[in-house]
Amino acid sequence: MRLQPVRGTRDILADEAARHRRVMETARGVALRYGYAEISTPIFEFTEVFQRTLGETSDVVTKEMYTFVDRGGDSITLRPEGTAGVARALISGGLSQNLPLKCYYEGPMFRYERPQKGRYRQFHQIGVELLGPGDPHADVEVIVLAAHILEELGLTGKTVLELNSLGDSESRSRYGDVLVSYFRDHESALSHDSKVRLERNPLRILDSKDEGDRKIVANAPLFEESFNQASTDFFAGVCAGLDSLEVAYKVNRRLVRGLDYYCHTAFEFVTNELGAQGAVIAGGRYDGLVEIMGGQPTPGTGWAGGIERLALLLDGAPAARRPIAIIPVGEAGEEPATRIANELRHAGYTVELGYRGNVGRRMKRANKLNARAAVFLGEDELARGEAKVRDLDSGEEVDVSLSGLARALEKYR
Ligand code: ATP
Ligand code: MG
Repeated sequence: MRLQPVRGTRDILADEAARHRRVMETARGVALRYGYAEISTPIFEFTEVFQRTLGETSDVVTKEMYTFVDRGGDSITLRPEGTAGVARALISGGLSQNLPLKCYYEGPMFRYERPQKGRYRQFHQIGVELLGPGDPHADVEVIVLAAHILEELGLTGKTVLELNSLGDSESRSRYGDVLVSYFRDHESALSHDSKVRLERNPLRILDSKDEGDRKIVANAPLFEESFNQASTDFFAGVCAGLDSLEVAYKVNRRLVRGLDYYCHTAFEFVTNELGAQGAVIAGGRYDGLVEIMGGQPTPGTGWAGGIERLALLLDGAPAARRPIAIIPVGEAGEEPATRIANELRHAGYTVELGYRGNVGRRMKRANKLNARAAVFLGEDELARGEAKVRDLDSGEEVDVSLSGLARALEKYR
């Protein structure tokens, strides 16, 4: 039996789990304040949910999906991202009767990628989707929501918001033609993958990670050179909305999104602290998605953030609650210890009970856990209906009646 975790997967323990939890709780808390309700879609879907929507030629579909045939013969895929599942839920759950749909999600995603720091095969995302409104205010709202989460995590100073527009579908298809003729002129220097992309989906070349491709892309025409008036106005609306809320951003005319369903707004919050894994939150507008899936045309905008990457940026572990240690002194204390621990936990205290060993050993454990106070249960005290409470910061000790214990510990909560 191979006992190591599968490549690209990890166990998330203790302090790291606490940082993940902090990212999720902060994100969920902020999202709720903006009126986004939690949604939890299945971790696997029929393969076509992703294949059709993410684009047959996208990296995710061609190289990164975990796809298998289940025992019933259906092709199933572990979700590589959250948006397609939400759009599927909107259609299959009849939620389009009740727009706007504003939702927040969190959970694992799966992509067969080359593992490195901040890049895993099972990773975790938080994300929001806003379906219904098709105007720039909606994009501004989801971006501001992301910025707000970063602010509450203390990460505003470590990240920069990069913003671009891909234009509407008319502009994009005009741009596609311009782009094809540009890349044709440089075809011999393109990577093999990009030669294929040139035939099947030239926009994809813009997102290539190949060094040689990137040099050619650096001089490629820009989206905005092909914009119609509507696309120009939309982008101006997003910028104006962010300006009025004083959310800082940098226009990056080279920013593209890796998936097929995006239009207009594209954005990423990036950091320079995680090497090549610089994007911590990324998203944009995806007006065509629901229709591609067979639903009523429904505009949408949203983003997803990588929990591992956000957690890596957090300083230290969040302060854990300091427990109260219950320490039986000799045989007589054992039974009451379990009972008193139970009572205190029901009263809302965090309580540690040493499982065995003498007082010295249990005190060592209490100190290791940074306990705030210790409650000693010795034979003499118990006979008087009391316990000895020691403040582990000051060393001060007092005898307290068992019936008043919960109240006496109040200051150590
Ligand atoms: P990258 O360019 O880093 O591959 P992406 O464009 O593929 O990112 P998205 O599909 O936009 O990523 O996912 C949103 C966020 O999810 C990313 O900004 C990142 O924080 C996180 N993410 C994506 N793939 C991974 C992964 N394999 N491991 C950890 N986090 C990831
Ligand atoms: Mg990727």
